[in-house]
Amino acid sequence: MFKALMPGTFDPPTNGHLNILMRASRMFDAVEVVIAVNPSKHFLFSPEERLSILKELIRPMPNVTVSLWDGLIVDFAERSGARVILRGVRGMGDFEYEFELSVMNRSLNPKIETILLPTDQKYSVLRSSVIKDIARLKGNIGSMVPPIVAEALADKYFPRNEPPGPNA
Ligand code: ADP
Repeated sequence: MFKALMPGTFDPPTNGHLNILMRASRMFDAVEVVIAVNPSKHFLFSPEERLSILKELIRPMPNVTVSLWDGLIVDFAERSGARVILRGVRGMGDFEYEFELSVMNRSLNPKIETILLPTDQKYSVLRSSVIKDIARLKGNIGSMVPPIVAEALADKYFPRNEPPGPNA
C-alpha cells in the first residue's frame, strides 16, 4: 500500500490544508494527517480540539485518517508503514524551509521520501496565523476556512455566555 503522511500543526486547519489533503487522497492509497503535539509551543487549539476538527473534515475522504504524535515524523512513518511525507508549499518562502526540513528528515531516515506539493493559486496566501488574527479582529474568514473552523474560531475569541447553572 502506497501511504503518505501529511504532518503539520493545523492550528487551525485551513482550506489550503484541505486542498492538499484532497489532492493527496487521490494520489495515494492512504493518507494519514499527523498533528504535531509540541507542549513547548503555544497553540490556540488543544491537540484534542484539532483532532476532533480534522476528524470532521476528513469524513468525505474514506482513505484519510488522522492521529496525534509527539515524536519525530520519520519515526511515525516507520511505525505506520508510510513511505512518504507530503508537505504543501505556498511559495518560495515555504520552499526554503521545506527543503531544509526534507534534507533533515532524509538524514534521519533515508527510506522515507518527502514530496512537496505546490498549492492551488487560490490558497497561496492562506496561513493559519494570519487567519487567527483576522478572526480575532472580527474580519470575514468565510472563504479561508471550512465552516466548522470558522465556528471554532468564533467560539475561542468570542465565547457565547455559558448557560446559567443551577445556582444562578
Ligand atoms: P507546520 O507548522 O508544520 O508548518 P502547518 O499546519 O502550518 O504546519 O502546515 C502543514 C502543511 O500544510 C505544511 O506542509 C504547510 O506548508 C502546508 N500548508 C499550510 N498552508 C497551506 C496552504 N495555504 N496551501 C498549501 N499548503 C499549505
